[in-house]
Amino acid sequence: MKGAKNNGADGLPCKFLLTVLGTALLAAARTAVASPGTYPERSVYFATHFSNWYETASDAEVANYVEELAEWGLTGIAVWFDMHDFACMDDPDARKRLARLKLIFRTAKRLGLQRDLHFLANESFKDSPPELRADWRPGKNGYVRSLSGHYHVELCPSKPGATELLLKWRKNVFEAFWDEPPTSVTSFPYDQGGCTCSNCAPWGANAYLKLCRRISGLSREIFPGVKFNLSTWRFDTFGKLGEWEGLFAKGDEVRTWVDSIYVDPMDLARTKALSPGGMPVFAMSEISMRGMLPWGGYGANPMPARLQGEFLGNPGMSGLRPYSEGIYEDLNMVVVLGILRDPSKSALDVVGDYAARYFGEGTRTPICEAAALMEENLSHSATACLGGKKRSPYSLEGLDPSSDWHVLHECKRLDATRAKRVLELLDEAERSMNVIARASWRFRVLRLRAELDFALARDAKTADMAPLFAELAQIYRVSRNTKPFLVPPSKPLWLDVVGTWHDMGL
Ligand SMILES: [Zn+2]
Repeated sequence: MKGAKNNGADGLPCKFLLTVLGTALLAAARTAVASPGTYPERSVYFATHFSNWYETASDAEVANYVEELAEWGLTGIAVWFDMHDFACMDDPDARKRLARLKLIFRTAKRLGLQRDLHFLANESFKDSPPELRADWRPGKNGYVRSLSGHYHVELCPSKPGATELLLKWRKNVFEAFWDEPPTSVTSFPYDQGGCTCSNCAPWGANAYLKLCRRISGLSREIFPGVKFNLSTWRFDTFGKLGEWEGLFAKGDEVRTWVDSIYVDPMDLARTKALSPGGMPVFAMSEISMRGMLPWGGYGANPMPARLQGEFLGNPGMSGLRPYSEGIYEDLNMVVVLGILRDPSKSALDVVGDYAARYFGEGTRTPICEAAALMEENLSHSATACLGGKKRSPYSLEGLDPSSDWHVLHECKRLDATRAKRVLELLDEAERSMNVIARASWRFRVLRLRAELDFALARDAKTADMAPLFAELAQIYRVSRNTKPFLVPPSKPLWLDVVGTWHDMGL
């Protein structure tokens, strides 16, 4: 939910391996699969938080964006009202967030799309009673790692009165959507939720299921006909907890109050032969954070080969739900939607369709080749560096903004020859494009990524790259409230958001 995993650059293979890998990736991205028919679940999750684009863009921009995605085969949109950001539903900022989420739901409804409301089972407002709070610490009850993303305000439902308070708050949130009701709700176990205490453990097969059963009933009371999805996100990640085993054992009972199971793509192998209770399974698709920090900080992040592989490797699922933090991964979203809608197409076929629609038919070939090369170069990571000590944009708290720090770029897979070739391909595409297409944000995020890669591969001066980062920030509607891990990595831009510097504990 918080979306701070899977970040950072991958390791550095030698140049020979890069070439071999590149050829394999390109071949994989071009491999279509024999069509099993359209996949029913083709939704996206708009992470609307951290003052990212989904929060800071205008109502019209967001509504238009939903309309565009609908044309690529979208069947539904999911959003999450992050209670932790607010003291209660009457908080003016809560009302503002709610208004944006309802705009998304309203637009989706107008387009005939499904609407899914996400939440954490034991999610809490920021001023929750300290005596009722959950435990996130490891070292007991099978937990060997701290619960990731925990805000430390979530409640332990095993403490007297906590379940009642959680259900009261959940009802408050549900009722706030009375005029734009979801068609389904999805409960998450971890990130930020969970509790490691002896009464709750193992969370995913014990207290989580008990609480979710109550919430499922509540959701159906408030939203008649609503579907209830059970997420298994991060099950068995924090120790040998037996959460999957426990869910399978209770599958028949769980099926009486759950409609679908929503899984981490890494867990799809567990449900390949049989899912708990035989329920339908769909998976998250990570298109936002992998291979680039800040997310989208260097422009577009096409990953057609990876997305194609993810699709080919999981034929039993009912569909995928890309996790989106902003418009920089628009191309990835379209790729996922495109191959789910028409599995006879390869990821690169869809990239070609995207190019033809937005940039003109003549750009299919160069844009496809450029996207594949950009994926091979993808390994971008920025830190604030002072005296050899590096701080990630997740943990800038404590860094003196006025000190002599600089932004350090590390791009371990970036190859200068490939970067030059990408620029040549985009030049070729531009020659057949009209002025509107050339100036469109969809093309600019690709072009800016290509120019930044070329500059970084030549160790260009920081001052030369600053305008490129500034244009990305403008496209992303970066505000003074945007978190630095969503702000393009230049010192002036990170200083502009100094008020948001904090330590996420990652
Ligand atoms: Zn507990």
